[in-house]
Amino acid sequence: MDTKVRVRFAPSPTGPLHIGGVRTALYNYLFAKKHQGDFLLRIEDTDQNRFVEGAEQYIKETLEWCGIPYDEGPGKPGNCGPYKQSDRKEIYVEHVDKLIQSNNAYYAFDTPEDLEVKRKEAEQDHTKFSYGPKNRNQLNNSLTLSAEELQTKLDNKENYVIRFKTKSSVTLSIHDEIRGFIEVDSEVLDDKVLFKSDGLPTYHLANIVDDHLMRITHVIRGEEWLPSLPLHISLYEAFGWETPKFAHLPLILKPSGKGKLSKRDGDQLGFPVFPLEWKDPKTGATSSGYREEGFFPETLVNMLALLGWNDGTEKEFFSIKELTESFELERVHKSGAKFDHEKTEWFQHHY
Ligand code: GLU
Repeated sequence: MDTKVRVRFAPSPTGPLHIGGVRTALYNYLFAKKHQGDFLLRIEDTDQNRFVEGAEQYIKETLEWCGIPYDEGPGKPGNCGPYKQSDRKEIYVEHVDKLIQSNNAYYAFDTPEDLEVKRKEAEQDHTKFSYGPKNRNQLNNSLTLSAEELQTKLDNKENYVIRFKTKSSVTLSIHDEIRGFIEVDSEVLDDKVLFKSDGLPTYHLANIVDDHLMRITHVIRGEEWLPSLPLHISLYEAFGWETPKFAHLPLILKPSGKGKLSKRDGDQLGFPVFPLEWKDPKTGATSSGYREEGFFPETLVNMLALLGWNDGTEKEFFSIKELTESFELERVHKSGAKFDHEKTEWFQHHY
């Protein structure tokens, strides 16, 4: 690889980090270190409604306990970061303006009530309402308003959101490092909100702008983000930016193999799904963590590394250094990995 590898772990502080999130951070870290690259931590905290007290601290403490340090951030070396999107608001404003100037985004003034009416009307016609290429020309936005009308609304500080203007009828061919080529027809995309009426960007805009400005070369994240990929690729195109490489990691599954591992599985089957103990700030309820249950951080790291990846040998115990040497994205499994707590206990006793 000729450019320096740069990856990031970009959690939203909406609650404690689940072991699935720790695995995503770990794979990013291993990939970066294998290629003498940089691993960044970026706190994606632009959704104020979902903000949970203590979650950011929990994320930082978890990475520290697991031995997954990040390389940079704003501030002085040695006392830096992580990057926080709530500190970068002006950057997103500046970038969404560029999209408006280039006619790739527009102001939409429809109120939630207006949109509800449209949804109901569509339901009666047995169709589904979506704000997009087919109907944006009949809605209340800067594409249908005259320049003067728009200016008056802006001067009057009417509430608006900024939407992405999806191109109609293009087929996007997208490459994922784990899954290969995926084709998506843009007809299925609607005009997603990029900027909310609270003056903050949505995840999509902030995520793309930051990945570009932070020179991220590989986006390695959970497969729940795969449906957002067509939008993300379209945003890169609209900005005229080169896309990074994408790798979407398969889920960690329940021990039965049916569905995604959840907090409830841990409670029912008696094992932690969190790295550290977590006390819910609202309910006061406590969920157990691997650290408090006496597990070594090395056990958790070893178990998570092998949950969905192997080095092609029978080797079962890896130090983080050995993992760094052996890790390859090509060997990440394509299907979900079943969680097996007995195996974790076995690792702990034999480590
Ligand atoms: N903030 C997103 C999350 O919480 C990040 C997804 C991504 O890595 O792009 O998972």
